[in-house]
Parts: sequence; structure tokens; C-alpha cells
Amino acid sequence: MGPIARDAVDEHPAPRLTCREVVELLSDYLEDGLPVGERARVEAHLATCQDCLAYLAQLRTTIGALGRLREQDVPRPMLARLTDAFRGWRGA
Ligand SMILES: [Zn+2]
Repeated sequence: MGPIARDAVDEHPAPRLTCREVVELLSDYLEDGLPVGERARVEAHLATCQDCLAYLAQLRTTIGALGRLREQDVPRPMLARLTDAFRGWRGA
């Protein structure tokens, strides 16, 4: 008759990230700031989730706009890489 907090159980294995988790990771993902494992999980989610895919595209556009504003501060190789990544994305 002991009180058992069954409602608090939150330990089911969830190999897939939720959309909320993915959204929180996306800016790090775009900056190559994620460990390989996390990156793979984000990509696995993006492969099956149009919503997060659309959000990623929006984020890239925003970062691209910011990059344009600060173009003089961005080293050229990095700028080229961002432009390249964006082109690749739009072509996909
Ligand atoms: Zn999602």
C-alpha cells in the first residue's frame, strides 16, 4: 500500500528525437556544433519530418540574411561554404 508515483514514470526508450528537441538542436546543427551521434539523430528525424525540414530551411534563410548584413565580418571561405550549403539545400 505504499505510494508509488507511476505517473512520474518517464523512462521509455525513445531513440527518436521529438520535433521540439530537433528544433532546439537545429541552430547547433547548422553551425556544426553537434556531436556526430546527435547530428545523425537530427538527420534521421529530418528525413521523416516535413515540419522540421521546413523549419530548417527557414532557419538557413534567416542565417543567410544575417550573414549578408555582416558580410564584411565573415571570412570568405566560410561565406562560400554557407552559400554552397544553401544552394545545395534549395536544389534538393
Ligand atoms: Zn519534426
